[in-house]
Amino acid sequence: MVKETIRVYARLKPLGRRQQAGIYSVDDEKSASSLEIIVPRDLADGFVNNKRESYKFKFQKIFDQEAKQDVVFDSIAKPVAECALAGYNGTIFAYGQTGSGKTFTITGGAERYSDRGIIPRTLSYIFDQLQKDNSKVYTTHVSYLEIYNECGYDLLDPRHEASRLEDLPKVTIMEDPDQNIHLKNLSLQQASNEEEALNLLFLGDTNRMIAETPMNQASTRSHCIFTIHISSKEPGSPTIRHSKLHLVDLAGSERVAKTGVGGHLLTEAKYINLSLHYLEQVIIALAEKNRSHIPYRNSMMTSVLRDSLGGNCMTTMIATLSLDKRNIEESISTCRFAQRVALIKNEAVLNEEIDPKLMIIQLKREIQELKDELALVTGKQRTSQLSQEDLLQLDELIETFLEDSDPESALDVGADMRKIKYCFTYLKLRQNHSKISDEKLLSHHISEEKETSKEAEKEELKKMKELLQQRDNEINILVNMLKNERKKAQDALFQLNAASAGSTSLKQSHCINVEESQNPSRFFSVKEAKDLSSSVHRLPFLSRMKEGKMSLGCQEAFEVFKQDHADSITIEDNKQLLKQRFAEAKCLGEKINEVRNRINHLKGEITQRHIRRAALAVSSPSEVLDALDPVEAKLRTQIEEEKKSYKTMFNRLKGLKVEIEHLQLLMEKAKMKLQKDFEVWWTEGGTNLQTQQEKTVLVSSLNTTMVYPQFVKSSQDLSANSFSETARANSNEDPSGKNSSIVFNNLTTKIRTSPSSSTSIPLTGDSQTDADILAFIKARQSILQKKGLGNK
Ligand code: ADP
Ligand code: MG
Repeated sequence: MVKETIRVYARLKPLGRRQQAGIYSVDDEKSASSLEIIVPRDLADGFVNNKRESYKFKFQKIFDQEAKQDVVFDSIAKPVAECALAGYNGTIFAYGQTGSGKTFTITGGAERYSDRGIIPRTLSYIFDQLQKDNSKVYTTHVSYLEIYNECGYDLLDPRHEASRLEDLPKVTIMEDPDQNIHLKNLSLQQASNEEEALNLLFLGDTNRMIAETPMNQASTRSHCIFTIHISSKEPGSPTIRHSKLHLVDLAGSERVAKTGVGGHLLTEAKYINLSLHYLEQVIIALAEKNRSHIPYRNSMMTSVLRDSLGGNCMTTMIATLSLDKRNIEESISTCRFAQRVALIKNEAVLNEEIDPKLMIIQLKREIQELKDELALVTGKQRTSQLSQEDLLQLDELIETFLEDSDPESALDVGADMRKIKYCFTYLKLRQNHSKISDEKLLSHHISEEKETSKEAEKEELKKMKELLQQRDNEINILVNMLKNERKKAQDALFQLNAASAGSTSLKQSHCINVEESQNPSRFFSVKEAKDLSSSVHRLPFLSRMKEGKMSLGCQEAFEVFKQDHADSITIEDNKQLLKQRFAEAKCLGEKINEVRNRINHLKGEITQRHIRRAALAVSSPSEVLDALDPVEAKLRTQIEEEKKSYKTMFNRLKGLKVEIEHLQLLMEKAKMKLQKDFEVWWTEGGTNLQTQQEKTVLVSSLNTTMVYPQFVKSSQDLSANSFSETARANSNEDPSGKNSSIVFNNLTTKIRTSPSSSTSIPLTGDSQTDADILAFIKARQSILQKKGLGNK
């Protein structure tokens, strides 16, 4: 058992150029680091009543702004992954306000390969280690759960097309009589290598992204738990080890500050997210001594993470901080939470269990071996029963022993447990009998009462036989009862499995085996795992766009949207990088082939030399052959060198492969996000436009000055068409939008929505919104034109 407090780390997010840094200092020491945050006077007035200005917090280690992902992984996640490999449960959770870098730390950034977060790095590390360890048989599964508004959703179910969170299978909590938590409907997907696991992660992340709407803001308000389940077994051993590694991206921890009477912010603040409030209550209860009740059941998240908090788990917390001046208050509350978490003690135990079936098989084998051994030594085949002859002999032996008055005499029946046991039974019977039959058997006058004694003995024997029969019957009844009970239990288990096909247990991962054998269809074949990313394309809107059924107007708008979208640069960059990597891989492949050819050639040369030397030995045997051939030695060193470079290049190629796969996934994700953003913008555009139009009816009579900072150069009354033309030409010329602003007088721009009506569209002056409106108008216009309704 490993007893230790939860390890708490802090990570500071790099601040943007426009952000004003708060004042803080990091004091790094060997065993612990401390973070001091200074609250400026203006903030301190409202923030704390006693006007304290400086706060100091201790952490296991603090990762300052420039800390890279690999360093964070090495110090935080690697030790936890190692424990999980050894059979202990582990949890790493990120806690902090929205935008402080939780997702970046846990999953990683979507742009660069080097930005991979803890999950992909942990997967890579674990599979690397598994490959190296041949002593055990490992099975790995992953699951990905999102909890939003007290509802759990399975992010990995391949059977569901997700376009909304509600479309994903709902996961519910069940508690068994032993208070173990089971998650019904959460699928455990087998991943036998890094690639399969990364594909699953990608599927989950994409579902997570697609399911987010501006209304639910799932990424900031939900908790995501990615779990790696590892089970291992040594070949031939009945002991199985199970461990779970939870990697948790919690909801944003921001609180609503309570405003006091004088408008001052009070220190006490309320969570936006109720489940984080319950998490805090659990933490407070755990940190208090002598608290018997811990309110885990108040929320789904605390129920699921029960073992991670004060239970059988090695837990690590990463407090993510964005030490911008405006965020000082939130940062301090994150640090305070971290200090409380650091007090909690966990007790991690090795999760080992014996598989009873394997145990029985092993014991049976052992018995047979022992029997064989015994038969070999004694030369006799041993049965469990003694023969009648043996029994008679034994009776005699015992009687003689008992009659012998010599205190030194011994009863020697040999090293046979059956005989020894029989002796004890015999003696016991005799002892009992002696009590009943007036000690006749033990009296010293056996000869005198031989007849009676024999009769009594017979009587006794009969009684004993009856007793034995009765015991046999009792045993039979008990055995039958036991069989019935076991059958009932099996039936119940079978029904439970059938009823909740899909109910899986997070608590006891050994259910995997049961499920696997009984319901193989629930498990995911390798092929399916590979098809996962393609299943994402089945999303209704995106598939419409993919199948080319998207209307032309929509397509055009999409093109415009794409040009302006921030991610398009990333996609382009990654595309270039991918090309480069492909080229590099190709080049490397060619080089590897060359090296291989060279090695083969060198080998050929050596063989040639051998043949020549052998021939020489035949023709002139006097020349001794064991003299070292310097040419061959040189060839061998050459081969060694070539091999070395072959190995280096091969490893590099392997690395490149992983990087290329990751880049492909990143691009796929970015594209998906782009399409999704476009979908939101496109649908919202319609509603916005309508409201804008309604407003225009009211204000179009007013002649107010409008500012067009980006798109319009002249002050003519432009038609919508020429507006968007300008918009496009302009956004191409000046994507940064640094054009000088042009002020002009007409408030609205005209657009014909039907042959009979013409509506005015107001521009807002906000360059981004106006760009969106214009692109939208352009797209709509083109649809109408296609329908023959537009202004010709
Ligand atoms: P959260 O999940 O806490 O809401 P994110 O992880 O989404 O925050 O981070 C917000 C933004 O800041 C993202 O664009 C992310 O890429 C960036 N970011 C966060 N942490 C870092 C970091 N350590 N280095 C670089 N960028 C970061
Ligand atoms: Mg996030």
